Amino acid sequence: MSIERRLSQVRARLSVAEESAGRVAGSVLLVAVSKFHSASAIREAYAAGQRHFGENYPQELARKAEELSDLPDITWHMIGNIQSNKAKLVAQHAHWIHTVDGPVIARELGKRAAQLGKTLPVLVEVNVGGEQQKHGCLPDALDTALAAIGAEPALQARGLMTVPPHTDDPAGAVPFFAALRRLRDGHGGAGTLPELSMGMSHDLEGAVAEGATLVRVGTAIFGERPAR
Ligand SMILES: *Cc1c(COP(=O)(O)O)cnc(C)c1O
Repeated sequence: MSIERRLSQVRARLSVAEESAGRVAGSVLLVAVSKFHSASAIREAYAAGQRHFGENYPQELARKAEELSDLPDITWHMIGNIQSNKAKLVAQHAHWIHTVDGPVIARELGKRAAQLGKTLPVLVEVNVGGEQQKHGCLPDALDTALAAIGAEPALQARGLMTVPPHTDDPAGAVPFFAALRRLRDGHGGAGTLPELSMGMSHDLEGAVAEGATLVRVGTAIFGERPAR
């Protein structure tokens, strides 16, 4: 199936999800997660109207952003873990960063964005499931992460992001989406932190029902990921 066809299926799923959740049509932004997929696959999605793309690895993001710099208004979202020594690369190429998870990376990104004369919208990644192996700050550390972002004039805290524990049944993710939303409501609410980045190919409906404003969808748009 073509990327154009898959994309229109995902858009249709999003519309239905918005409608059944009583959300305004078009209020959820679709971020097409293109990690491991080629620049030509991204061009195909772009030609079908997609503008927002998500990448997980700083070098891959940089390579693709350069290769696709001829595409006007393509918007890059960094959705993978960021090591401090990659902060400069990310600040150069990402328009949004979903994965700030503590003071160290906040300071480094803030410094790099300032040097580039940019203001970067960022989200705090929260490990709502409290899983050992997952990135993201624990809910208890959210205040610290937000304060660190607040201390960086070149960063703007716009919301929260999460990757829930894996469950085969997409309904299993819903309590974690709800937890992220409650956490946001406990930290200033939607007025202060308007964005919730949650929901992927198999569970975007539940995320939209719980208030997602950004969904990160890879496989349902580009097909199975090739080996890296
Ligand atoms: C890969 C990835 C996605 C996309 O997952 P799919 O199941 O392919 O839709 C979303 N979010 C993050 C953080 C990812 O790493």
